[in-house]
Amino acid sequence: MYHKNLQAHLECMECHTKYDITEVIFRCPKCNGLLDVRHNLEAIKKIPANQWKELFDQRLLTEFPFSSGVWGKKEWVLPQLKKENIVSMGEGHTPLIPLPKYAKELHLSELWIKQCGVSHTGSFKDLGMTVLVSHVKQLMETNNSIKAISCASTGDTSAALAAYAAYANIPVIIFLPQNKISLAQLIQPISNGAIVLSLETDFDGCMQIVQEITSDKEMGIYLANSMNPLRIEGQKTVGIEVIQQLRWNSPDWFIIPGGNLGNVSALVEGFVLLKETGIIDSIPRVAVAQSSKANPLYKSFLNQFKTFEPVKAQTTLASAIQIGNPVSFKRAKRALEISRGVVEEATEDELANMAAYLDRMGMFLDPHTAVAMVALQKLKNKDIIKNNESVVIISTAHGLKFTEFKVNYHKNQLNEVQAKYANSPIILPPDSEKIKEIIRQKLL
Ligand SMILES: [Zn+2]
Repeated sequence: MYHKNLQAHLECMECHTKYDITEVIFRCPKCNGLLDVRHNLEAIKKIPANQWKELFDQRLLTEFPFSSGVWGKKEWVLPQLKKENIVSMGEGHTPLIPLPKYAKELHLSELWIKQCGVSHTGSFKDLGMTVLVSHVKQLMETNNSIKAISCASTGDTSAALAAYAAYANIPVIIFLPQNKISLAQLIQPISNGAIVLSLETDFDGCMQIVQEITSDKEMGIYLANSMNPLRIEGQKTVGIEVIQQLRWNSPDWFIIPGGNLGNVSALVEGFVLLKETGIIDSIPRVAVAQSSKANPLYKSFLNQFKTFEPVKAQTTLASAIQIGNPVSFKRAKRALEISRGVVEEATEDELANMAAYLDRMGMFLDPHTAVAMVALQKLKNKDIIKNNESVVIISTAHGLKFTEFKVNYHKNQLNEVQAKYANSPIILPPDSEKIKEIIRQKLL
């Protein structure tokens, strides 16, 4: 009912040239700048905040596909998309879990974890991929030069792309750095029938190759990396959804792990729409958390973003953010300026022990979410996050994707990690008296 004047287009971040949303371009043809999807803000603002809130709340219980957390906000995501081209597998509406015990330890008023990993392919990437694959499905109605979709990945992006494209019957080509992703992540695109190319390089090397291959128009391969702003449109619903889950109230802080840095810009894009429509009064502050083994944004932040130097990403347990040359650096810088943002880093020992500590409170954290939790602790210790402030941690993936990390932690076999909370199984004969004795000792 609101579709009439709502239109989105592509716009260059650098020279602000506008392009039609149906153009198959991944950077500005004029200046090579990154592209944004831009909405008709005036048309969106004509509808009062209360009506938007009512519509979005109503759709929590509506029919598929508008019951999806992404497509329930279709007018803010991709208004021109036809309903029949929506490729949805029920993404979004993930749990927002309070952590009262840990909030108390840190003297925060409230702390929540947004479990984006509770999703079809087990990570937040489903939010962006439903939009990208739907858009490509619509493009393919009129553009027969597109033959396949492709991405370079540290694991979660390829899993999401392979699943959504298989669901829509579109061929997929995946570029993975050999031996640098978890087994669970590797088996996902293989199972979904993608063409999986395992390259003898790191993620940054794969990213370079996929950009070269997709820029060759004759190949007809559409780029699905987060350089493509369509992904950001879906990912931005995560912050909107959190604020909706808090009955349209905003916490003081969001903390999000950062690798290729599309996610932080997506988060802030969502807040900007909430602010423009008057749903929230001010934009919450955002912290990006990086692994100290792959921390180019952190280094740039220490220098007030005056310079940006890519780094050679070293091996880290937080493998999904093992990225030294993030393609969305400029978007992330803009997002951190809008949100008075900060950047923090975590070592291997810090992230592994943090995951184990919170797992003992019932979590099962993936290493990247643990990086965000370490950032929270450090920012609190530095008094950047104050007593009695409220914080939401964006958990990007399901811990079950990283069982090798957990197993090796509890065997105390991780490099550079002294496992403080290792919990080994106790091997005993089937003798109930002996077993009772051990249980008594353990429960003391
Ligand atoms: Zn441009």
